[in-house]
Parts: sequence; C-alpha cells; structure tokens
Amino acid sequence: MSFFSTRGGAAVTASQAILYGLAPDGGLYVPAMFPPISLQKIGKLADMDYRQRACAILKTYLEDFTIPEIEEALAAAYDEKKFDDPAIAPMKKIDDETWVLELFHGPTLAFKDMALQLLPHLTTLSAKKNGEEREVSILVATSGDTGKAALEGFKDVPGTSCTVFYPSDGVSDVQKLQMTTTGGDNTHVIGIHGNFDDAQTGVKNLFSSAEFNAQVNARGKVLSSANSINFGRLVPQIVYYFSAYADLLNEGAIALGDQVNFVVPTGNFGNILAAYYARNMGLPVGKLICASNRNNVLTDFFRNGVYDTRRTFFKTTSPSMDILISSNLERLLYECADRDGSLVATWMKQLKECYTYAIGEQRQEWMNDVFDAGYCDDMQCAAEIRARFETDHYLMDTHTAVASHVLKEYREKTGDMTPAVVVSTASPYKFAADVLSAVEGKEAVNGLDAFQCSEMLEKVTGVKVPAQVKALRTLPVRHKQQCEKDAMAEAVMEAFGK
Ligand SMILES: *Cc1c(COP(=O)(O)O)cnc(C)c1O
Repeated sequence: MSFFSTRGGAAVTASQAILYGLAPDGGLYVPAMFPPISLQKIGKLADMDYRQRACAILKTYLEDFTIPEIEEALAAAYDEKKFDDPAIAPMKKIDDETWVLELFHGPTLAFKDMALQLLPHLTTLSAKKNGEEREVSILVATSGDTGKAALEGFKDVPGTSCTVFYPSDGVSDVQKLQMTTTGGDNTHVIGIHGNFDDAQTGVKNLFSSAEFNAQVNARGKVLSSANSINFGRLVPQIVYYFSAYADLLNEGAIALGDQVNFVVPTGNFGNILAAYYARNMGLPVGKLICASNRNNVLTDFFRNGVYDTRRTFFKTTSPSMDILISSNLERLLYECADRDGSLVATWMKQLKECYTYAIGEQRQEWMNDVFDAGYCDDMQCAAEIRARFETDHYLMDTHTAVASHVLKEYREKTGDMTPAVVVSTASPYKFAADVLSAVEGKEAVNGLDAFQCSEMLEKVTGVKVPAQVKALRTLPVRHKQQCEKDAMAEAVMEAFGK
C-alpha cells in the first residue's frame, strides 16, 4: 500500500510515512485506499485476543512490514505487564444501550498509550527498512497526555530520542509531574510560555524549516513526529474500534452487521478519525459523534461547514481537548474533497492566512451523513460525572464525561437509540481534583493537592488509585527547561547539547 500527501504530494511506503511523519509539502500521509475487512473477518475477530485483532488490522496497511515483525512489535507494545487489564482495551456496560471503551489501562493512564506503546517499534523498524542510520529524533507538542505517552514509549529505545514541548500553564499537575519526572537518557521535556496551539504550530514550523533540519542533520539526527499527524499513531487506533465491535458480538449485545454509534471526546481529531477509517474499511458504524468542550470549533464546523479559529481560547477541565486547530481533520477533508489535494491545500492556506475556511453546503451534508457533533461546558461535564457515578455507578474522567454528555444530548435530539460506545480516553485519576469536585462538590477539594485528591477520590468511590499516580509523589523532577514560544529551535539545540 502506498501513501499520498493530503496536499497532493508523491507516494511513499508505509515505513516512510511512519519514519518521516509529515509529507514534504506540509500535508499528512493518507493510505491510497481503505483495505476492506469483510463481515466474515470481523466475526472472526471475536475469537481473537487484542494482539491478534491488532495484527489482522495492521497488516492490511503495513505492507512493507513482515507478519513476524508486526507480531513482535505488538507483543512488546501490548504486554500484560504494561497494561493493567488483560483485555488491553476492555468494554464496560454502563446502561442498557451504552458501553464504555476504556483506553486508559496503559502505563500513562491515557488513550495515547494505545498508539505510543507501539509507535517506537514501528519507527525503529521503519528506520532499518529505509537504511536510516541517523538518530531518529522525535519532536512532540502535547496538550498533556501525548507527551508522557511518547516519553514512556521512546524512553531508552536505541537509535531514538524524544523531545516534548508542553504549554507550561496548560496541563494538570499530574500531567506535568508525569512528564518532568520521566527517566531515560534520551528524553527532553520543555515547558513553553504559550498554549497548545503555539506548541503545535511551533513544532510544525520546525519540521518544515530547512535551516533547522540542516542543523539537526549536522548532529547526525533526523526529525520525526510522534504527534497524531503521524500515520503510525493512527493505525493502532483503528484496531480498538474493531475490537470494541468484536466484544459486543461476544456479549451478544449486537448481531454481526448491526450498526454501532461511537462518541469520541475530540481534540486533534486523531481518535475519531481512526473510527472513520474503521468505518471505511467495513466496520458497521452508524454515527460518529464528535464531542468537544467549550473550545467547540469542531461542533460549529460540523453544524455549518465553516472552520473558524477566530474565537476565545478557553482553559477547561478537559485540557487534552483545549485545541482550536485540529490537525487530523485535514485527513477527513481530503476524503471530503474527493481526494483533491490542491483543494485541501487551498483550505489549509486559508486557515493559515485568514484563520478560517468554508467547505460549502454539499460537502457539509456529506460530512453530516456520518458525523454528528456536540459540546458541553465544565459545569455540564461535572454534572455528567456525578450523574453517571450516582445512577450507573461508573466513575469517568472529565474527557469521557464530555462525550457521555454529548451522547445524551444526541439521543434526546434524534431519538437514535442505536447501541453506543463512549470512548474513554483517560483514567479519572489523571484529573482527580476535577473528578472529586464533580462527585463531592467544590468544597471537598479545598486545600488538597493532587495526591490528596486521589486518596479522597478512592475513599469516596472505592475505585483504586493506580500505582503510577502513587509513584509520582516520590519521583524526582528531572526536567526543568522552559522557553518562549518563538525560541523553540534554540531550545531543542540546547536540549540536544546536554
Ligand atoms: C489526546 C486526548 C484526547 C483527544 O484526542 P484526539 O485524538 O486529539 O482527538 C481526548 N482525551 C484525552 C484524555 C486525551 O489525552
């Protein structure tokens, strides 16, 4: 299978798309086609474990990898010692028509682990396949969770290094500590004075700067991306949508061929895009519901076909979704534009120069055939956490609660009671203060630090604090570097110099 750029550029192999991350024309790599998975094959997934399901999906895209290579990478990534649930991505039923797909059982307690535990293995294999002898230097912009997941994935992987930029005032205490306490000799963590969009734009600019690339090459390194724009991030995410469907089959909740709706808490549009890819491969999906917080640029886009970033940026209790420029949307636009790369390039140019673009009514209708969208604010999110805990005895984090709220609104609005899967992207303990405040009231968190909130949350709900959170308390802070948002190139060089 070859891969094209969303902006019309030339074809590369899967391993090249993974190794280089972003296409030279600034576009994102997309597969030449969506490999079909028949209903019969989907039925067979039900008898497989997670790694076998993953192999069945991955091999259809990663044609220049051998099956043993894929199997070995999967065995290392989805190791039962690294995930605290043998199902890897377990499904929990929370009411008659609703399930939660828990994607937070990996080492960093967020769904990013699903992709970033595998990506380093795919990256080093890709380097070998392409005769790449330089050190693969991963650059990451994070709104909180990607950074830690990338650091854990690449930590001490030979032939790689991992440098993470995070907005220094835009992540939770636990998220910041998770990153700044990371071990490993090849990890760098830098706080930038700006928000996530500044970090992401800065990293994108570094990738496209000839001068910066030359500086990096002079040190025997080559840049690569672990952000969700990398196809190597996307492909492992396709797997869990098939896996969720297979689990519903096993439970007898659906019959083979029945449709399922998915509601996804969305930021950079990577997770929900993987669901869209799964649908295009043949997974029986009804609606994909895109859930946002107050930064509801995507809700507006799906409702009126205009993407407009000229709006206030809000810091919310679901910080991993505090994003105004959703990079992976470009891959959906590519399909929406009938794979016309020059049209996508025009929209992206308008976005860069005028901060907005419009896709037109017909294309908007095309989107609405598959996608619905909604959003909620922090108060509605807290109310949803409390309601799900009191009514369904299920404790969800703030991001998952946004999705759960949006699903309820969708069902009220449409009457569509198709079985739905709420995609859960983080452990409630990653955002313990906000979750505790939702369950017990604002006063309950007064004067408590993140760890005391966790202990209190365990006491109140009976849901155990994960070991990773407890360990943070005593780990030393190793990474203290900070930089201005227009000095990221210098900051990387400083980090490399260490
Ligand atoms: C990254 C993240 C999201 C957003 O996922 P996208 O793929 O960027 O849309 C949602 N919730 C959590 C907890 C995350 O870490």
